[in-house]
Amino acid sequence: MKKAIATPAPLPIGSAAERLNQVQTVLHRQADAGRHQHPKLIAISKNFNAQAIQPLIDAGHRRFGENRVQEAIAKWPSLLASTPGIELHLVGQLQSNKAAEAVAHFDAIHSLDRSSLVRALAKACATAGRQPMLLAQVKLDDEPQKGGVTIESLPGLLAEASALGLHVAGLMTVPPADKDPAPYFALLAKLARQHKLPECSMGMSGDYDLAARLGATFVRIGTALFGPRS
Ligand SMILES: *Cc1c(COP(=O)(O)O)cnc(C)c1O
Repeated sequence: MKKAIATPAPLPIGSAAERLNQVQTVLHRQADAGRHQHPKLIAISKNFNAQAIQPLIDAGHRRFGENRVQEAIAKWPSLLASTPGIELHLVGQLQSNKAAEAVAHFDAIHSLDRSSLVRALAKACATAGRQPMLLAQVKLDDEPQKGGVTIESLPGLLAEASALGLHVAGLMTVPPADKDPAPYFALLAKLARQHKLPECSMGMSGDYDLAARLGATFVRIGTALFGPRS
């Protein structure tokens, strides 16, 4: 069967500094319009090598995200060694057997989504004596193959994390690709408020303006900063 043709994300033009500036301008304008704080921009550098990442670092950007632990471990140590103050976020699904590596290498993990991972992370954090910022990934619709805890199971997961000494700072979601993301963003923000969680990770290259307007505190942007991934 032929794949549906997705609308291509606009090709980034200009220097890294100009692209960052364009994205930040939109984020600030939309957040102001929605009367929300300005979201923190995570540049998602998956599939891009150190050479492609360096211009963003040179332009002053310090917050990056990857979706795979092994790729990040292969790519980031040299960049981290040459630039202090970089914050690294894991935004992809995490296998429990990689919990210790994730805790060692990341400042934030956006994909806490099941009991087995809560237990693995609690153990890894206790051993390492450090805890990255943790966000629970919520699946707001019925997509069986997708990561994320259901809305029904979220309170139980948060309670288990808390009982094991983990501090969860917020929620994360990836809305279904073929639907209007607005109701999903609004729902995630509402869930975060209900659970008194300050952080809301939502919005990618195609919809970060909407996410900022609806209360994102983190947006995760790859294509609009780096161009299309091969
Ligand atoms: C790849 C990825 C992004 C960035 O996607 P773009 O559309 O390129 O901005 C954001 N969040 C997650 C979880 C991703 O895997």
